[in-house]
Amino acid sequence: MLLFTPGPTPVLEDVRFSMSQPTIHHRTPEFEAIFADIREKLKNIFQTKEVLMIASSGTGAMEASVINFTQKKALTINAGKFGERFGKICQAQGIDYTELKYEWHTPVSVNDVIKALEDEKDIDAIFIQICESAGGLRHPVEEIAKAVKTLGRDIMIVADGITAVGVEPIDTSDIDVLISGSQKAFMLPPGLSMLGLNEGAIKRLESYDKGYYLNLKSELKKQQANTTAYTAATTLIIGLGTMLNKIESIGVEKLYHDTKMRAQATKKALQAIGLDIYPSTPAPAMTTIAFEKADELRKILKSKYSVNIAGGQDHLKGKIFRINHMGLIETYEASWVVNAIELALADMGVRTFDGKANLIFNKEIFREDV
Ligand SMILES: *Cc1c(COP(=O)(O)O)cnc(C)c1O
Repeated sequence: MLLFTPGPTPVLEDVRFSMSQPTIHHRTPEFEAIFADIREKLKNIFQTKEVLMIASSGTGAMEASVINFTQKKALTINAGKFGERFGKICQAQGIDYTELKYEWHTPVSVNDVIKALEDEKDIDAIFIQICESAGGLRHPVEEIAKAVKTLGRDIMIVADGITAVGVEPIDTSDIDVLISGSQKAFMLPPGLSMLGLNEGAIKRLESYDKGYYLNLKSELKKQQANTTAYTAATTLIIGLGTMLNKIESIGVEKLYHDTKMRAQATKKALQAIGLDIYPSTPAPAMTTIAFEKADELRKILKSKYSVNIAGGQDHLKGKIFRINHMGLIETYEASWVVNAIELALADMGVRTFDGKANLIFNKEIFREDV
């Protein structure tokens, strides 16, 4: 079965192998050396001054950010399940917040954010997805971060990059906190979250100290000494090391380029067979298609063509399907996925099969001349 859901993504064989070795103790020079090496490699991918690794799924890093970086009031951007989650975390933590809400296919506008900040002078942290995975939407995070910084107020920009880090280049110059997780572009099992921190975030941690397990101030102090406050997720971190070596040997620029090409080819192929892209500003992490019979299509893909793709959640349940582009994906697998979708559409009587999806996909990737 081809796993083509936008998280979890498949775990590659040599990564699985590296994680099958005997457990080593986390308070040893041996593990500290591995940890130190991975910290440097992560800083390079995150393009931030500091990085933290936490034993939790991505939501743990989201909650840690809300607790540690909101001093007075948060602004959350809700254009889907994950943006909504930031608001729910604020509620659970008793943190005051204002939410800007959008349809799941519509990105937040820079003007709306600036207006919200002008209206409420006590907002001191903004929480936003780079790619809102609920609809595969790309928010203009870098633009927002830049505009907010020109206001001259001390406002933290916290960007959830769980489906963006390792997927596409991100300009982190005005982003204070960049969140990621193990089971998306890093192609690891779930259970490890990562945070990139820039100067502003490091400074705020110096003067603000919150949480116990998710206390980022104490965590940063420990991790700068190449250890962790609590038991490190050693197995996942070792797997991450193997994955980062793979990414380094391929080249991160090439990874971004290949991902973009695959996303572009998939979108064009599916549009060519009459399907509609759901978000108005699609992110390269996934292709989201608006389709009324999405669940029937997904069932056929699984049972007849061995392809597992994701559906929608909440009001989009059964109305969209999502195809992953994150990670080191073989082109021949991605090519089979668009072909399988075309075959399944023919099975459903939607459209006669003529091989157009694969033709367009292969033209895009291999034969610009045709
Ligand atoms: C997957 C994902 C998360 C984290 O979810 P977990 O299940 O806690 O790992 C957060 N934000 C986005 C945008 C995601 O895609």
